[in-house]
Amino acid sequence: MNLPEEFLNRMKERLGTDFPAFLRSYETPPCRGLRVNALKIGAEEFARRAPFPLGARIGREPLGFYVGEEKAGSDPYHFAGLYYLQEPSAMSVNEYAASCKKARVLDLCAAPGGKTTSVAAQMNGEGILISNEIDGGRAKILSQNVERMGIKNCAVVSATPAQLAARFPAYFDTVLVDAPCSGEGMFKKEPAAIPHWSPQNVKFCAARQREILGYAAEMLCAGGSLIYSTCTFAEEEDETQIEEFLKAHPEFERISAHKSYPHEEKGEGHFRALLCKTKGETRTAKPYPVRRNAQANRAFSAFAESFLNSPPVGEITTLADGRMYLTPAGMPALDVRTLRLGTELGEFDGKVFKPAHALAMSLKSGDCARFVSLSREASERYLRGETLEAKIPDGWCVVGVEEFPLGLGKCVGGTVKNHCPKALRKR
Ligand code: SAM
Repeated sequence: MNLPEEFLNRMKERLGTDFPAFLRSYETPPCRGLRVNALKIGAEEFARRAPFPLGARIGREPLGFYVGEEKAGSDPYHFAGLYYLQEPSAMSVNEYAASCKKARVLDLCAAPGGKTTSVAAQMNGEGILISNEIDGGRAKILSQNVERMGIKNCAVVSATPAQLAARFPAYFDTVLVDAPCSGEGMFKKEPAAIPHWSPQNVKFCAARQREILGYAAEMLCAGGSLIYSTCTFAEEEDETQIEEFLKAHPEFERISAHKSYPHEEKGEGHFRALLCKTKGETRTAKPYPVRRNAQANRAFSAFAESFLNSPPVGEITTLADGRMYLTPAGMPALDVRTLRLGTELGEFDGKVFKPAHALAMSLKSGDCARFVSLSREASERYLRGETLEAKIPDGWCVVGVEEFPLGLGKCVGGTVKNHCPKALRKR
């Protein structure tokens, strides 16, 4: 691997006698991991059913396993959201999230969703999670991952940190800043990033992180937790960044900080810090302006009566374009580009209610009156867009791999038409 000379010199200076071991870590393939989605299945149960070999448990993450090169990303269980593929060192941030109060959480730099999906599993549907991604294209991927993992209490938005800080001063209990960084820990996984590394880029990243952290600080309430992480080793972006932040923000104190290197822990390396805002205000925000549409609600209720075993609890909001969401209790007004708001129920076109893929993904098999359970083999065919045969009454149904939803179908005379969105099918 052709690593920049200046990068190697910096690492040599930093690591001293450990430098040869660090260098040797580049001789092994990148570490891969998966984190079981506790919203859908427990770690032990997943390990029992895993269709590919699982490696050892990942030390700091009770839901994490090392995995090999297998195609874990194209398995039906992946489509069903039973796990999220995540670099093992990056999972260590979840330990900090576990210790935080999680009534109102903001993930400020959230795509593609590793931290968001982990925090959401810890929240288990309680409280409010706002997951933000500044880049519109990446925000879509984040939104798809939130959907796949069946998360119900999350709004996915795409805004700048400044826009959010103007709307949510002193509001959040926890803010995660998994910052855009110079990515020194990603060189093995993404060698294409290597030519973009330079000392100037490290400086640029550090300045951008300082700005993002400043906005994160404004959005935390008194007693709130700030979780900061990077996948780089540069001190300017890690230890020094935190020291300077604490000098500029005396209302914060450091609770913990840790850097992992690939020659010390099995993973590509990460930096994380947990800070607490000890003083300051705590403010509320305007509540989400629920848009009630009696006609749409009636159409949904009629659908839900035969489709769900019990009606969903909560406020339904119907957007101007007809999309209907179950709004999580306590959701604030967002006033920024919003891609997803709680559970997407479906769409009302003025006459008929059509359920959304997200609704199917948020259900457990027992929640649904019409569930078509497929073998792993048959589910591959569903994921490729094929129609199915099933002995169920006509109408909408949820199709799943074993008891785990994969998407929707619509049955007419024993034939189930495939309603898995084309963009989410297996190619
Ligand atoms: N937390 C994510 C996860 O666990 O999957 C990874 C986040 S990645 C390290 C950093 C993210 O910050 C990128 O998606 C990037 O688009 C976003 N970003 C870039 N510039 C930003 C800025 N000025 N403010 C906020 N986010 C930014």
